[in-house]
Amino acid sequence: MSNSEWKSVGNGHLEGPFPLPDLDPSKLTVTLSETLKLLPAPETLVFGGTMTDHMLVASFDPVSGWSAPEIKPYYATNTFEGMKAYVGPDGAPRLFRPAKNMARLARSAERLALPPFNTVALLELIKKLIVVDQRWIPNMEGYSLYIRPTIIGTRSALGVSASDHALLYVILSPTGPYFRTGPKPISLLAAAENVRAWPGGTGSHKVAGNYAPGFLPQRIAAKQGYDQILWLLQDADRWKVTEAGAMNVFIVVDREDGDLDLITPPLDGTILPGVTRDSILSLAKAHTAGKLTLPGISTNQRLHPHERAFTIADMDLWLSEGKLREMFAVGTAAVVAPVGRVGFQEDLKKPARDLVLPAYEGGLGPVSRAVRQMIIDIQEGRVEWEGWCVRCE
Ligand SMILES: *Cc1c(COP(=O)(O)O)cnc(C)c1O
Repeated sequence: MSNSEWKSVGNGHLEGPFPLPDLDPSKLTVTLSETLKLLPAPETLVFGGTMTDHMLVASFDPVSGWSAPEIKPYYATNTFEGMKAYVGPDGAPRLFRPAKNMARLARSAERLALPPFNTVALLELIKKLIVVDQRWIPNMEGYSLYIRPTIIGTRSALGVSASDHALLYVILSPTGPYFRTGPKPISLLAAAENVRAWPGGTGSHKVAGNYAPGFLPQRIAAKQGYDQILWLLQDADRWKVTEAGAMNVFIVVDREDGDLDLITPPLDGTILPGVTRDSILSLAKAHTAGKLTLPGISTNQRLHPHERAFTIADMDLWLSEGKLREMFAVGTAAVVAPVGRVGFQEDLKKPARDLVLPAYEGGLGPVSRAVRQMIIDIQEGRVEWEGWCVRCE
């Protein structure tokens, strides 16, 4: 039987040919660890290197459905999510737009024919796990708890087909600021061979299979002195810009009327629909509509967000005309990373040609600085905006 025959309907059961138990927070058992780990000094944290004391686990079986969820001591990575919890001024942990991550995880699972689950229930369970391991969130600006919900197919058979068994787990890792010494512009290698996703593929889903093929290109880029890959997609004789590493990208371009265009590639199936990307588009729109003021940006400075394809050739032209102001990569881990240089390598036998972006004091241009600060202020509970921040209690 295929997992797509079931649907999560939120009444404690998956609906299908016969009902199966859904993920149910009322059945949660919590087994606390007898020996809590020593908290490391926050300054020594390496991203993803330290796990907290506990994890959330539930398994799926085609006969018995989702098991009772458990919070238990951490032991031991497919589809996954990446989100963060922050401590607010009141000491309570907060999540940033977590319903978006839950919906994306459910879409990724569906794409891999893994079983559906109640997304509201999973969020409730994650909040409970965060409260159990609350002491792990460093109460310092820029620090947070990175949350990695994962679902893996666990069918014990070799045939190449959908898995009817699954394991869902959530692990937590305390993390410091992405840039320890303040934002520093990163360099990107845009090589013709570096294609991450294609029309009709899985690029718009957070599925593990999208990432491993990027490890070797990443290593090759690092050898040539670049921090990350700028993923391209060929369109006739042009190279469309798609994403940077595992981050979405934005550029800021001058307009004739003195306003600024803020451009990111459209969600055409090759782009991962990032929560950070969506948040930046909304904040820019709100600024221009006069609903909020982005820090350091004049209320008269209008920003026009666009979800529109752009190419290396466009970037080249706008740089030569002095119109390309900023480029930055965005995602939960780094929030906003400024881009200083893009090496374009169309002919793999020849060295890359560098496109050099304008440099700013402190690493960030005015727009990237403003959106980054605004997002961090919302995440850490200093600014309230449209219910984006959800307290865990
Ligand atoms: C996770 C991810 C992003 C960023 O998404 P956020 O929700 O903002 O963290 C962008 N691109 C890829 C390929 C990703 O995997």
